[in-house]
Amino acid sequence: MISGPSGVGKSTVCHRLCEMLPAEFSVSVTTRKPRPGERMARDYDFVTLEEFERLRSGGGLLECAQVYGHMYGTPLKAVQDAVAQGRTIILEIDIQGCIQVRSKMPDARAFFLLPPTAEEQRRRIEGRQTDDAETIRRRLEKADGEIRYAMDAGCYDDFVINDDLERTVKRIYEKVVAPD
Ligand code: ADP
Ligand code: 5GP
Repeated sequence: MISGPSGVGKSTVCHRLCEMLPAEFSVSVTTRKPRPGERMARDYDFVTLEEFERLRSGGGLLECAQVYGHMYGTPLKAVQDAVAQGRTIILEIDIQGCIQVRSKMPDARAFFLLPPTAEEQRRRIEGRQTDDAETIRRRLEKADGEIRYAMDAGCYDDFVINDDLERTVKRIYEKVVAPD
């Protein structure tokens, strides 16, 4: 599992790790609208709230949470299949989701990415040009609280400052491939 505040580089790190390990990416379901450039079934399964609730009440989600006002969840089947077949699967999920998965799958590894500075986080999130000013403001405002919450949650194996991308990916790779 990879978590971290908005714009820290989670998607970038997940996709690099998927190539390196190799691993597959767990495509979440969300009620958020697609951003420009995002594709259905590659980035997320974009669903209505009714569809999300149907999936959840039918037991189809490993975990779910409300994040920044939208619902997000991890489809259970892809994770079950990967674990049963000994494949690595990467979940990009928030802290609430990580706590839920850890309680069901204690052997899962979890990493929290930290921005080098708040200013750099702002540059990255603005540079992505996918969110409006109000969305960016709300997400940046939440970052400090999220980092404190993550440190108190006790569900992360490591906190990694995502300064140099290759160094971040290497550090996580080594902990996943040779955990001890
Ligand atoms: P998140 O998924 O956490 O919201 P993204 O992966 O979309 O963040 O990254 C936000 C922006 O920051 C992207 O433009 C990405 O290319 C850039 N980025 C990610 N990691 C780094 C890094 N280590 N150094 C510089 N830029 C980065
Ligand atoms: P974004 O809208 O930027 O793609 O994601 C917003 C937040 O939702 C991020 O913190 C991301 O990690 C989290 N998220 C994405 N998918 C899931 C999921 O399936 N479950 C949970 N709990 N959080 C998710």
